[in-house]
Amino acid sequence: MSCRDCTYYVPHALYRYIGFCEKERRVVIGEEYRKCGYFEINPDSYIKDTIEGRGWIYCADCYMPIYDYETALKHKAMGHLLTTKFMFDQVAAEESPGVD
Ligand SMILES: [Zn+2]
Repeated sequence: MSCRDCTYYVPHALYRYIGFCEKERRVVIGEEYRKCGYFEINPDSYIKDTIEGRGWIYCADCYMPIYDYETALKHKAMGHLLTTKFMFDQVAAEESPGVD
């Protein structure tokens, strides 16, 4: 279990090994194993609901959008991170700019 398997992990749009934790409100390392108490695994239903609802989900490892559920499951089976959220807008919203 690492942060990138968690439903609260928001990957960075370009540097997918870092992300933003929606619970702790800070930047975390995706591969890190942490016992934070918030960990919740991203369920397969999230992928299905997202594709049915939005029509696409993004593979953060292949840098491409996916439009059908079967393809998305193949990426997930390879350990890829599927998401619709990206860190840069989160950070812009949550962290005050101008530090240094
Ligand atoms: Zn992929």
